[in-house]
Amino acid sequence: MTLSVGQGVRVLIDDGFIGQSMAQLNAAIAFILVLSVFMAIGTFVRFYLISWLGERVSADIRIAVFNHLVSLHPSFFESNRSGEIISRLTTDTTLLQSIIGSSLSMALRSSISFVGGLTMLAVTNVKLTFIIVAGVPLILMPILFFGRKVRVLARKSQDSIADVGSYAGEIVQHIKTVQSFTRENFEKKAFSKEVEQAFSIARIRVRQRGLLMAVVILLVFGSLTAMMWVGGNDVLNGKMSGGELGAFIFYAVLVAAAVGSLSEVFGELQRAAGATERLMELLHEPSDIQSKEHACAAQTLAAAMQFKAVNFSYPSRPDKNALDQFSLTIDEGRVLALVGPSGAGKTTVFELLQRFYDPQQGEVAFGGVNLVQLALQNLRQQIGVVSQQPTLFSADVMHNIRYGRVEATDAEVEAAAKAAHAHEFIMQLPQGYKSELGEQGVRLSGGQRQRIAIARAILKNPRILLLDEATSALDAESESHVQQALEVLMKNRTTVIIAHRLSTILHADSIAVIDAGKVVAQGSHDELMKTCDLYQRLASLQFQIKD
Ligand code: ADP
Repeated sequence: MTLSVGQGVRVLIDDGFIGQSMAQLNAAIAFILVLSVFMAIGTFVRFYLISWLGERVSADIRIAVFNHLVSLHPSFFESNRSGEIISRLTTDTTLLQSIIGSSLSMALRSSISFVGGLTMLAVTNVKLTFIIVAGVPLILMPILFFGRKVRVLARKSQDSIADVGSYAGEIVQHIKTVQSFTRENFEKKAFSKEVEQAFSIARIRVRQRGLLMAVVILLVFGSLTAMMWVGGNDVLNGKMSGGELGAFIFYAVLVAAAVGSLSEVFGELQRAAGATERLMELLHEPSDIQSKEHACAAQTLAAAMQFKAVNFSYPSRPDKNALDQFSLTIDEGRVLALVGPSGAGKTTVFELLQRFYDPQQGEVAFGGVNLVQLALQNLRQQIGVVSQQPTLFSADVMHNIRYGRVEATDAEVEAAAKAAHAHEFIMQLPQGYKSELGEQGVRLSGGQRQRIAIARAILKNPRILLLDEATSALDAESESHVQQALEVLMKNRTTVIIAHRLSTILHADSIAVIDAGKVVAQGSHDELMKTCDLYQRLASLQFQIKD
């Protein structure tokens, strides 16, 4: 339709002005007016559809990236900062959305006007068209040259914006530590350094794009002027009508504008490519921990677990074995306590039992079957964990307990809370089960948090239980509540406890003493007191203070 306006212009000049006809002038104006209305409608449709597309693409990519993220192996998150990952999920997808929604739409429109304009130019005057066409390769060269640079810079720019985001995120999260060490000024300076770096990369990028646009404009208007000179001569010599020249100039401007906006958009599209690259990297990150095809189900196997000569080092520290020729048997229906100095590898044992990592050598087995052969989710459904610092989500109590089993009814959640000795304090919260817990459950005490976690585990009803006893002393009442709750939880289950209290140890069927990634002794409390030096030391240092 925009192209037809050129014909309107021709009629307007040749028949209206030069032909001195009022009727022709009116007809030409009416024609242009009607076209304008259709152009407006077309613009609305184009804008709506393409913006919709941009929003849809970014929504789909966000969902795809998040879905992939939640199934990635935990060590991925140790080597990648969470702020950086979140930035990809939010800023990169937003960039894509705005670029697809606006720039791509401009690119589409410009490409069509470019081709259409060029065709109409050729129809109107072949000789002049050659001048334009000769200019095109000249114009495309800088676009390609600068475009590539912009793309590299765009990626750097997004990376450094991600750094800014994750830096700020960390500081906000640890604000009390920052203030307690009065490091505000230090953090301000460090943060502004990150921001300035992002700025200076952005400045280089913007300069490249600016240069690109300047060069293109120079070339476009240069060839336009050359063409007008030739065309003007033709009109003076009577080889061409004024209306034709008018239409021609209209088309030439259209083509020039199209090229101009294409060059601008090209830079934007290169930016999108930079952002897409970062998203695709995330999307194609393979998960190290996956179920095999035809994996077996764990629910029919005995709830016993075993370490067979396991060597394991964390991916972030490959030269140090966290577990070293580690062998341990966890019998069905029994309680096994793990004791050992801090850093011995107790928590690592829990991580491997849940298959957050695979050992480099040896195997971990469930009911006699290597974990690698089992369906991952099915395996984890057999295992419940109550850790020292239970993870609570910033939602209400109901949601947090129900995390153990999503389909549980309100009554079941309440029953679990009662069994975990949590019901009473929950009822005293301002809105009972509907009380919001705040981020990380900050509005609860340590003992309360643990009882919520116990209720959650009771609801999950796993066959194997991994308990990490709190090292920090709870107050006596809280302590006895937690103890009673744990007893309910441990009934009829296979239990492994990282023990810090004598009472727990005395209840255990067997105690494994772990040091430097090895099981150094195993037996009952009395046996170990006689035979194991390390156990004696630990007993006199740790257990008696608490009990
Ligand atoms: P414990 O629970 O007995 O205190 P851990 O199992 O937490 O000990 O740690 C065993 C060893 O592994 C320690 O040397 C610790 O520094 C190291 N370690 C623990 N977690 C990680 C990790 N995510 N990445 C690298 N090393 C780790």
